[in-house]
Amino acid sequence: MADKKIPYKIYLEESEMPRAWYNLRADMKNKPAPLLNPATMKPMTAEDLSVVFCEELVKQELDETNAYYEIPEEIRDFYKMYRPSPLVRAYCLEEKLQTPAKIYYKFEGNNTSGSHKLNSAIAQAYYAKKQGLVGVTTETGAGQWGTALSMACSYFGLDCKVYMVKCSYEQKPHRREVMRTYGASVTPSPSMETSVGRKILAEHPGTTGSLGCAISEAVEKATNTEGYRYVLGSVLNQVMLHQSVIGLETKIALDKYDIKPDIIIGCAGGGSNLGGLIAPFMGEKIRGEADYRIIAVEPSSCPSLTRGVYAYDYCDTGMVCPLAKMYTLGSGFIPAANHAGGLRYHGMSSTLSQLYDDKLMEAVSVAQTEVFAAAEQFARVEGILPAPESSHAIKIAIDEAMRCKETGEEKTIVFGLTGTGYFDMYAYEKFHDGKMENYVPTDEELAVALAKLPKVEG
Ligand SMILES: *Cc1c(COP(=O)(O)O)cnc(C)c1O
Repeated sequence: MADKKIPYKIYLEESEMPRAWYNLRADMKNKPAPLLNPATMKPMTAEDLSVVFCEELVKQELDETNAYYEIPEEIRDFYKMYRPSPLVRAYCLEEKLQTPAKIYYKFEGNNTSGSHKLNSAIAQAYYAKKQGLVGVTTETGAGQWGTALSMACSYFGLDCKVYMVKCSYEQKPHRREVMRTYGASVTPSPSMETSVGRKILAEHPGTTGSLGCAISEAVEKATNTEGYRYVLGSVLNQVMLHQSVIGLETKIALDKYDIKPDIIIGCAGGGSNLGGLIAPFMGEKIRGEADYRIIAVEPSSCPSLTRGVYAYDYCDTGMVCPLAKMYTLGSGFIPAANHAGGLRYHGMSSTLSQLYDDKLMEAVSVAQTEVFAAAEQFARVEGILPAPESSHAIKIAIDEAMRCKETGEEKTIVFGLTGTGYFDMYAYEKFHDGKMENYVPTDEELAVALAKLPKVEG
């Protein structure tokens, strides 16, 4: 059945690795809407943004004309330690499914942080160091971003303060210890350390926290501490720019064997891995050079694309951050604590939101028990224990492969396998014990947070 001329793993030589990141916005006909200053409701200027972010990253954030950014040599050298990441032909999964589809996955879990997040963490730490900063603050949900950033900061000798969503802090004590191994300080959020944390605790005593809330705390800490800036691991344009290395490597590897994907699938939390994976392919699609089906997969418990609205919203619960126009569930939306699979952010990257609104991309949502069933199926044949987040993409890749089995079509499916799930065994345990529940918010519940969207023209 399978065409064995294509190797199980397509590697690239160091000399074939991308030397520049690709900025998809340069090729977009409808540009994503600008970030707005919450005080004035006017577009954020570089000056506004540089209070919070490093200067070079502000430049990248606002740039919608330059298609390529040379990757600094220090970052390329760091990338060489764990990149190129393998592009794997899932022969074993194809065999198990008895599908005529050809399945490939780009595996980003082959570094200590266990996910794609290191691709942007090392870039952000590099620019912070270059600017002469003492350290950075950030938030982390499931812990992968905090881990990646801790590694990157220790590499460049920067201090790193992480606000970790409280329910993850409690469910994943080992994640916390990995971050501390790299010298980061980790605080459960909401905390009493910041005024926004104290306010949220007063309003919602006993809350298990949310990403939006941890972001507010990290931003407050950065802007109140000399020599610090805030960094974010997803959602922002700069993060998607760095993550384009995933898609660029994928494309180079596929081109080596003349492989043209029909369907490209990725999980979507804030949108960084999906945005990075699809970037060069979406560029071709927008320029009319090729066509692909591109599918974003999100959890049914936090369905920003499939059930949210496209509107300006705050990026954080404390409403201290700029507003972004995005598909959102409302910044006050807090996903159920029993949702184990990550991807808990209330909004979606403004770039992906615009592409979705322009119908250049599809989106589906899946329930967490289906996700874990797919994860287990994959783990048993492909020899990788996938992260729950990544398994959203696995679920839809398997569904598409099974559709090919019915129709006899030999489609080529590429999906992003963003990371490993060794710190998610508590969730796997719940699944194995039959104790995992699918929590899907009702329309009424969604309406509560959506009613609080800020009123903004446009
Ligand atoms: C953070 C994370 C995601 C989701 O974030 P995106 O910005 O949407 O990519 C997915 N998978 C893993 C393993 C992650 O750590």
